[in-house]
Amino acid sequence: MEKVVIIGTGPAGLTAAIYTARANLKPVVIEGMQPGGQLTTTTDVENFPGFPEGMDGTTLVMKMREQAERFGARFIRGEVTGADFSGKVLKLTLDEGQVLESSTLIIASGARAKYIGIESEEKLMGRGVSACATCDGALYRDVPVAVVGGGDTAMEEALFLTRFASKVSLIHRRNEFRASKIMADRVTTHPKIEIHWDTVVDEVLDVSRNEVTGLRLKNVKTGALTEIPVMAMFAAIGHEPNTRPFKGLLTMNEAGYLVTNHTLTNVAGVFAAGDVQDPHYRQAITAAGTGCMAALEAERYLGSLGG
Ligand code: NAP
Repeated sequence: MEKVVIIGTGPAGLTAAIYTARANLKPVVIEGMQPGGQLTTTTDVENFPGFPEGMDGTTLVMKMREQAERFGARFIRGEVTGADFSGKVLKLTLDEGQVLESSTLIIASGARAKYIGIESEEKLMGRGVSACATCDGALYRDVPVAVVGGGDTAMEEALFLTRFASKVSLIHRRNEFRASKIMADRVTTHPKIEIHWDTVVDEVLDVSRNEVTGLRLKNVKTGALTEIPVMAMFAAIGHEPNTRPFKGLLTMNEAGYLVTNHTLTNVAGVFAAGDVQDPHYRQAITAAGTGCMAALEAERYLGSLGG
């Protein structure tokens, strides 16, 4: 039986791994479908303290992982499909049937990108519809593309895409951005970015080529429909937490985020850190901070068990 199992290898999970490994608790870290988490799909991280020149997101998490391994954290690949918290021993089932038993669990499984939810979007997923400009942006050189959203992610995606695309249409449902002023200013003054205010995507067009060829846009104030030619649409409209295996077991808010108090969940020995319990800040540094808190709480809890 393990002392600590950590789900997730973003900044929250890896910080929890560094702390619990340094406390000699030999954590097992479960690495899912996206090792490194959302930071691996971002561009330069400019706001993580200690890196005045900025740092590539993937490099940042790889360095955290190296640090955790150096102190003895063990990494296994797998998806958590089920959990049993009915006894003192916490049990997790992984996709290949493996069952892990542990005294404590730190859930740092993060969140994933949301899509608009229209049929044509679903149909063209991976054929021009994406939620990751860093992953797919370079495929669209010298052609027009679109980004949907008005938060920091949309700003970041739009700015990144200007490196490749001939033009970036930014589609936002209101007439002001939710993004931070510095990011919004960079976007509004960028010569390659055209902003469509008060606008939503009515249909992703493929003109029977089975790949994106344009968008039909709807002005939400006037109802007017227009079409723009684009070869890709990047959804950047927020995230949803990866909490499905814990439905009915752990207290969640209406959006599915785990409810925590100083990283403690409603089950003794189960802690949560990072985006999976934070619909508000969602920063690498806050995720790392709560990862540290969860590790210290797990250590304290193990101490109370006399283990
Ligand atoms: P967000 O701040 O929640 O913004 C989501 C945007 O998508 C909003 O503008 C929202 O419109 C729009 N939206 C939501 N659902 C929609 C729908 N169904 N159709 C059309 N538009 C929709 O999400 P985010 O941009 O991913 O950012 C999340 C957090 O991460 C924020 O705290 C952000 O500051 C942070 N972040 C920081 C950085 C950075 O500092 N470098 C980079 C990325 C993200 P409304 O505005 O009308 O609600």
